[in-house]
Amino acid sequence: MNKPAFLIERMKGEAWIKQLETRVVILRAGTFVDLQKNIEALIGDEASALFYDAGIRAGKGSAEVQLQAWKERGMDFLGKWGKFYGSSGCGWFKVEDINVDSEKGGGYIRVKQSFIAEVYGKSEKPVCHFLCGFFVGVLEKVLGERLTCEEFKCIAKGDSYCEFRFEKL
Ligand SMILES: [Zn+2]
Repeated sequence: MNKPAFLIERMKGEAWIKQLETRVVILRAGTFVDLQKNIEALIGDEASALFYDAGIRAGKGSAEVQLQAWKERGMDFLGKWGKFYGSSGCGWFKVEDINVDSEKGGGYIRVKQSFIAEVYGKSEKPVCHFLCGFFVGVLEKVLGERLTCEEFKCIAKGDSYCEFRFEKL
């Protein structure tokens, strides 16, 4: 089975939409960022870990669905995956560069147009904790390794892209 990268359809006669056989919703980016800022105000720095962990689970879950639906593997999978989440797909981010050293299990992902960073406003620290975890979840599924990831550059702190560096645990 080799479905196109973008397949979001409204169910006939139903009030919900699906993507690769999974129910999805369209959420205003500001709603997500508002939720993040409220949790940050409530629990402080630990909010980043909460969003990071949620991102890992989301990344694993969605990669499982995509690995079932798509025949591509490794870098071919990641190329298609990047388009899927890009501005003409889900609108989450636009992949600028993916560098994966599968021997060492390390590398980086650089993205522009992070929906979190662009809406968040100025910050002294990176803000894309959810995406940071999300990339771990996806890459763990694709590479079959346990990874850790940190966001070093972020549009919210004035960088021209967000850069996530990951390495094997
Ligand atoms: Zn960022």
